[in-house]
Amino acid sequence: MGWGKGRVMALILGLESSCDDSAAALVTSERVILAQAVIGQDDAHRPFGGIVPEIAARAHVEMLPGLIRRVMDEAGVVPADLDAIAATAGPGLIGGVMVALLAGKGLALATGKPLIAVNHLEGHALSPRLADPNLAFPYLLLLASGGHCQLLEARGVGDYRRLATTIDDAAGEAFDKSAKLLGLPYPGGPAVEQLALEGDPRAVPLPRPLVGTSEPHFSFAGLKSAVQRAAASGVHKPADIAASFQQAVIDCLVDRTARALATSNAPTLVVAGGVAANGAVRSALAELAQQKRRAFSVPPGWLCTDNAAMIGWAGAERFALGLTDPLDAPARARWPLDASADKVRGAGVKA
Ligand code: AMP
Ligand code: MG
Repeated sequence: MGWGKGRVMALILGLESSCDDSAAALVTSERVILAQAVIGQDDAHRPFGGIVPEIAARAHVEMLPGLIRRVMDEAGVVPADLDAIAATAGPGLIGGVMVALLAGKGLALATGKPLIAVNHLEGHALSPRLADPNLAFPYLLLLASGGHCQLLEARGVGDYRRLATTIDDAAGEAFDKSAKLLGLPYPGGPAVEQLALEGDPRAVPLPRPLVGTSEPHFSFAGLKSAVQRAAASGVHKPADIAASFQQAVIDCLVDRTARALATSNAPTLVVAGGVAANGAVRSALAELAQQKRRAFSVPPGWLCTDNAAMIGWAGAERFALGLTDPLDAPARARWPLDASADKVRGAGVKA
């Protein structure tokens, strides 16, 4: 059976390849995910303890066409049924970003359907609205992933005001690096969360960088160094280090988010990005929202880590507003959601 005729909703193909997940999904403007598939590359990168960009890009080239075929077959959809093709166009590892973007351009060219060049961060930012039909703008968004840690006021599609960002490492990066120091497998976040269940979060004294300061931003580099010293000392159980580290990250996220909530009238606190898949992080921020009398929304874990449903959904939101892109849309390694935000001090300035 084919995709129904006479429909009024839009059908969008979402494509994602900006980091180490190749993904394709078919999403409707009515929040129905007809099919989706993600193939991670953990095994390919594990020997190196982190993502190797060249390996990632080559794997996307091998995986993405099969994934597109798979979701189309699963949903009984043919290219002519699509209303638009939404592909991540950045930010991310540029070799990988180009794979989904070029696949999207090829499909757009062959079908004559519009291309939507999606900002991956907007994919994360709008993902809670795919999961929660009642989530309206504005909302205060904590976006914590492998490459980013930001607080943003989401005011509308394409309209974000950045309140804070990290001056060094991202929260997910801190999880990944600490996991490596503890001898845990890549990717680090889920492994640390698992080990932390067996540890005492008060056992190892670790710093909470910038907590309690008037500065709005995040910092995790000092915490990572402290984990390194604690691991090297041989004094502590790895589970205690994992639990204490996770608690320190949570304390930083909660303190910085509380500070941002004090400057924003947004009625809802929203958390997205890979770190939002962490159960302890989710509970701590839900509690903060309750304390500050804000509603709380977090997508299911599978929608927090990289996927193409969120790219298809961001495409659907943009398509509804007539926001399509030309076939010469560039692939971008950096692409801030709030282009007007000031650069922050610190060595590793993140968009
Ligand atoms: P993303 O960049 O959005 O794909 O998110 C990936 C990042 O989220 C990586 O740095 C992961 O280590 C991190 N992450 C994924 N799951 C968890 C988890 N359960 N706890 C903490 N961090 C996580
Ligand atoms: Mg991501």
